Amino acid sequence: MVSNTIGLLQLPSITLLTPKTLDEAVSLMVENPDAPIIAGGVYIISSIIDRRIRPSKLIDISKLDALRKLEKSGDLVRAGPIIKHWELAERFAPVSRAFKDFGDSYTSPSIANLATLGGSIALRHSSEDLILIMLVHDAVLKLRTASSVREVSLESYLREDSGRHIIEEIAFLNPSKVFSSFQKIALGVSYTPLVSAAVSLGRGDGGGLLCRVATSHCRGGVPGRVRAAEEAVEDGGLDHDNLELVGKTVEKEIDPVDDLTAPAWYRRRVAGVLVRRMLDQLRRALPR
Ligand SMILES: Cc1cc2nc3c(=O)[nH]c(=O)nc-3n(C[C@H](O)[C@H](O)[C@H](O)COP(=O)(O)OP(=O)(O)OC[C@H]3O[C@@H](n4cnc5c(N)ncnc54)[C@H](O)[C@@H]3O)c2cc1C
Repeated sequence: MVSNTIGLLQLPSITLLTPKTLDEAVSLMVENPDAPIIAGGVYIISSIIDRRIRPSKLIDISKLDALRKLEKSGDLVRAGPIIKHWELAERFAPVSRAFKDFGDSYTSPSIANLATLGGSIALRHSSEDLILIMLVHDAVLKLRTASSVREVSLESYLREDSGRHIIEEIAFLNPSKVFSSFQKIALGVSYTPLVSAAVSLGRGDGGGLLCRVATSHCRGGVPGRVRAAEEAVEDGGLDHDNLELVGKTVEKEIDPVDDLTAPAWYRRRVAGVLVRRMLDQLRRALPR
């Protein structure tokens, strides 16, 4: 039981449940339907301090070794959800431009040391840079519920209500085999970027172009893939005129939220420009 008063800050009494295995974590999730899962705690603890949530129990998965892996398996990387943001940046920045951009543009090193990949994905929000980067690496999630273990693409996960679940694994294309890039425009007042975008390029078995485009605020505040822009690249190529069209397609397709930090028209416009520029830069690196 944790009960604290620090100066004027009064924290509620919270029981921290500490499962020793994933099965135990799932059982605790079923027995305690109102207890949030806590991994790095960046979001959960700030939500408790701000009184947005008032849980009496938390299920702490941060010590479960089964959720800590980061291993290559063929063309994929399989990551446990409690892998930290800094670990991903450090491991893949030398081989992936998107991961280097992610590390270089991170707002706070102390947060990167705490925040986890699974915590980011579960938030399903445009604040999470890794969602975009995982989308352009075709990430697939393994979700564990009380009654099943199932796989779902990250793209579908962002659109569905998955019920009570634990993200057990995130499998994504090996970043060293993908040409990818990530950029964000942020204001100091908020860690949620005004706009961010990620792209990747590759070649299919027949030599044709493969493209992925993801932006923040694709639908309201939720990030997502922009399929029409991907098809425009795969069908029309990477020349200057077609990239102009791809940028306009992004602008037309996404439906961002209008809020105090940026109007929707600005987000649409800047997302289109970011995608066009990143594709233009990656084009030069892509083998013919
Ligand atoms: C000051 C500040 C700066 C930031 N800067 C950046 C930045 O530059 N780039 C960026 O990408 N993000 C940034 N963030 C956001 C940060 O990345 C997220 O808050 C963080 O990723 C959440 O991860 P966590 O492990 O701390 O999640 P937690 O707070 O532990 O959990 C977050 C949510 O995910 C759920 N959850 C956690 N793990 C799982 C799981 N395995 N299965 C199912 N549900 C789960 C929890 O129940 C909760 O709902 C910043 C945040 C702050 C406060």
